[in-house]
Amino acid sequence: MSQRTFYYFDNNATTRVAPEVVEAMLPFLTEYWGNPSSAYHFGNQVFKHVENARSKVAELIHADPREIVFTSCGTESNNAAIHSAIIVQPNKRHVITTAVEHSANINFGEYLQKRGYEVTFLPVESDGSLDLHLLEKSIRPDTAIVSVMWANNETGVIFPIEEVAAICRSKGVLFHTDAVQTPGKIKIDVKSVGADFLSLSAHKLHAPKGIGMLYVKRRTKYQPYVIGGHQERGRRGGTENVASVIGFGRAAELAMAHLNEENTRVRALRDRLENTILSSISHTSRNGCRDSRLPNTSNIAFDFIEAEAVLMLLDQAGICASSGSACTTGSLDPSHVLSAMGLTPMRARGSVRFSLGIYNTDQDVDFLLEKLPPIVAKLRSISPLNPDHPDNTSYDIEAARTKHEQDMANATSEKDVEVASV
Ligand code: PLP
Repeated sequence: MSQRTFYYFDNNATTRVAPEVVEAMLPFLTEYWGNPSSAYHFGNQVFKHVENARSKVAELIHADPREIVFTSCGTESNNAAIHSAIIVQPNKRHVITTAVEHSANINFGEYLQKRGYEVTFLPVESDGSLDLHLLEKSIRPDTAIVSVMWANNETGVIFPIEEVAAICRSKGVLFHTDAVQTPGKIKIDVKSVGADFLSLSAHKLHAPKGIGMLYVKRRTKYQPYVIGGHQERGRRGGTENVASVIGFGRAAELAMAHLNEENTRVRALRDRLENTILSSISHTSRNGCRDSRLPNTSNIAFDFIEAEAVLMLLDQAGICASSGSACTTGSLDPSHVLSAMGLTPMRARGSVRFSLGIYNTDQDVDFLLEKLPPIVAKLRSISPLNPDHPDNTSYDIEAARTKHEQDMANATSEKDVEVASV
């Protein structure tokens, strides 16, 4: 059986499921498969484990376990928070979010606009930061909710969420934050933040895909988004995804334990990667402010070339990175986040996101730093956009894309995949 080795720099898209998480989950796929809502012991013992996992997730964000609603993903959590706010306040038909949110918010906002709601997508500054004065001015008597992400998935830029919450509180408006990119990277304390709702997604913290969480502050009026049985204290119908909930609980414990490492070792790896690229490859720049940023994320513009081409060649070298949100990969439009920051379409299309994690090593960074410069040089040598090479031939990105898709199809048929970066 063939083995494929790869170097993973796309931890903001998803993370490897930690072996400890798999170990915690397995008994709930094999032995303890009862329904947690069943009255007999076989079901009830599963219920107790679900509640134990709920306590761990609550601990991660300093919440009360009763404030945790398990969902299917971060997208559902975001949708559910905004949905609840507009349903419980039928006279309020205005929603505020930002222009740089994940598509979970952008597309839900556009969906609401088509149904007659007014949605303000707040602009950002060129370094990705938020104008709090503008936010405050945008809140109206009919604003149902303000939903502002804690940290941006493409640039890693961190918003001053405590200040946003304080503004909302002073105006008496509900506040939701999409904190999907933060666990294990930023200390999350919902009590000191003062949010009414907060979203997480387990696959960003080394647990499986398909399980998320919405924090609903106690005594917040809440209308379920998924209507059905009485699970989750009547706040989300549907039999719990038990094994994944257990995995989420274990991953929450690990995220708390890894907070320090992410902020020291992973940050140092990220900084070495970023500083070396910026100092050794000409015509490169960082997207997003340097300091108020997740410790694992680096988004870099490579002038005169297409990020898609860089990513294809990196992929051929066994390196996984991305040009923005995994949910928008394949789109030829420049990233809405980078566009909102005022990057030209060309610079936005030449931007690559590297997002590291606890399984990355110094050797991974060395490998990337060895492979990247010749790839950039090669693409620039054939780029019609490169002013240093006026008489070159143009690069056939469509042909390269087709070949890349074929390569991807072949690669996924290989059954055995070994992760080099662990
Ligand atoms: N919000 C942010 C900031 C994200 O990065 C993502 C996923 O990339 C989501 C929401 C959506 O999470 P999920 O994939 O669990 O729906």
